[in-house]
Amino acid sequence: VLHNQLQDLRGNFRVYCRVRPPLKGIEPLDTSHILINAFNAELGSQSIEVEKNCNLTPIKYSFDKVFSQTDTNQEIFKEVSELIQSSLDGFNVCIFAYGQTGSGKTFTMLNPKDGIIPSTAKHIFDWIDNSAKNGWKYNVTCEFLEIYNDEIYDLLRSDDNKSNSSNGPRHKIHHDDASKTTVVENLETITLTSKESVDAVLKNAMKLRATASTSSNERSSRSHSIFIIKIHGINEGLGEERNGLLNLIDLAGSERLSVSKVQSERIKETQHINKSLSFLGNVMNSLGSPDATTRHISFRDSKLTYLLQYSLTGNSKTLMVVNISSSSDHINETIKSLNFAKKVN
Ligand code: ADP
Ligand code: MG
Repeated sequence: VLHNQLQDLRGNFRVYCRVRPPLKGIEPLDTSHILINAFNAELGSQSIEVEKNCNLTPIKYSFDKVFSQTDTNQEIFKEVSELIQSSLDGFNVCIFAYGQTGSGKTFTMLNPKDGIIPSTAKHIFDWIDNSAKNGWKYNVTCEFLEIYNDEIYDLLRSDDNKSNSSNGPRHKIHHDDASKTTVVENLETITLTSKESVDAVLKNAMKLRATASTSSNERSSRSHSIFIIKIHGINEGLGEERNGLLNLIDLAGSERLSVSKVQSERIKETQHINKSLSFLGNVMNSLGSPDATTRHISFRDSKLTYLLQYSLTGNSKTLMVVNISSSSDHINETIKSLNFAKKVN
């Protein structure tokens, strides 16, 4: 019984590590301080060893899978497609990209050619086209939001005034405990009909984001962006119905900014990022702990965990991709990211 309860709480959880190559002409090319061991089929895991200092023993970290600097987005998607398929089969799925700014989160999630989101769109619509002959009809919609300073902003609405917060939060989160669903108020919902329609939505959102802030790159590193895909499938012949949900999350940069070192207007922002990422880590850690059934898990501590509560528990599957840089310049942040991974794994 305990085992079942545990599985209910935790869902299916895995952690991957992705090492990005050094940026040519900018970073040292020697990456020998990071050693990736071969996949261990017996353990079902793969380890990475990091040598901070040549006279210290390397620290070893285990993952469900490690991607090296030569592995492409396509190779990552090969491993991820199973989770996307689960969302078509009616599961709630979360895929997170975690890591310091510049570690490759956006490249992994959103690269227009082959990032996880564009590849997901292709997978979904290929599947829908194929299963039509078996009587399945699907309705697919998306939302795209950003959590900045613990407030929600709609990346699909040009009128989402980011500077005027005097009217209070426009996008409240509601939980429906009976149906275990989450609704964010006043979000633009777009019906998706093809892979191209997803590409268009992403392109527009990026344009909107770029005009809404002075530097979209800077802004995006300080907010969590969440692309939500809701999939409803129905087969009248079989009398079957499926509701799946995908949350594809490009997290804010994990670099631990010390409040004393940032300018005053950045302090609030920094505190929100530090807090929300550690709350996320705490929630994942609590979900995986043996006494998870009795422990109070504080999803309400942040908008991010509250929004994702039903996608992290129950009939859910979660993947955390921890992005690290292979450059020795970033060794300290790399170790911090790997320690975060250890904590949630
Ligand atoms: P983040 O979103 O974590 O701040 P980015 O995805 O913007 O980081 O990546 C930083 C830079 O590194 C970008 O120029 C990106 O194109 C490049 N980059 C990231 N990952 C890879 C990779 N696996 N292979 C090649 N270039 C990469
Ligand atoms: Mg980014």
